[in-house]
Amino acid sequence: MSIKSNLQEVRNSLHSNIELVAVSKYHTIEAVQEAYEAGQRVFGESREQELRLKHEALPKDIEWHFIGHMQTNKVKYIAPYISMIEAVDSLKLMMEIEKQAAKHERTIDILLELHLAQEETKSGMLPSECLAMLESGEWRALSHVRICGIMMMASNTDNEAQIRSEFLKAQELFLTIKQRYFASDDAFRIRSYGMSGDYLIAQECGSNHVRVGSRIFNT
Ligand SMILES: *Cc1c(COP(=O)(O)O)cnc(C)c1O
Repeated sequence: MSIKSNLQEVRNSLHSNIELVAVSKYHTIEAVQEAYEAGQRVFGESREQELRLKHEALPKDIEWHFIGHMQTNKVKYIAPYISMIEAVDSLKLMMEIEKQAAKHERTIDILLELHLAQEETKSGMLPSECLAMLESGEWRALSHVRICGIMMMASNTDNEAQIRSEFLKAQELFLTIKQRYFASDDAFRIRSYGMSGDYLIAQECGSNHVRVGSRIFNT
């Protein structure tokens, strides 16, 4: 199977309203180029240095999403060009993104990363932490950060019922947050969950933004 045919298969299995982020971390520049030539424009990376090399080498109409854990001191490197920072898990990180985005006179789209999995290793804010952060209202002063929705990862398990229940929790929290804080903000609309192993379940549970890597790039 080629990257092109993998991409075609994944796209064909997704509803048309779902955004596909091709997660290209650990894959070569040539592999990304191949996906680009097959029409893919949105790519996800999780390491700043790897992203930097790919951004420099590849076409400039690619939208790069940073999907990994973002260290505060690395924001400055990606601020000039990043389209979206998906895994924002603190107000502190948001404030750094604000500062760096302002320097470049840009607004950077972000997602709030939620921890809903039953694993201690997963990052993200607990629902209570996220709601408390939003309730504090400090984020409202950040004019170069646009909060576009939520992202999460389900537990790494074969238990489909558990994965499903975590995705449904994410959907419910999205709706709560939307209603309480972003009811009149059309930009807040993204539910980013679903990876190679579970994107079809995610799609059934209200995801509109899946991040698929190995299913596309492992040929
Ligand atoms: C690696 C990664 C993915 C994609 O994982 P695959 O199983 O290869 O599809 C999605 N989201 C995040 C946050 C990742 O780190």
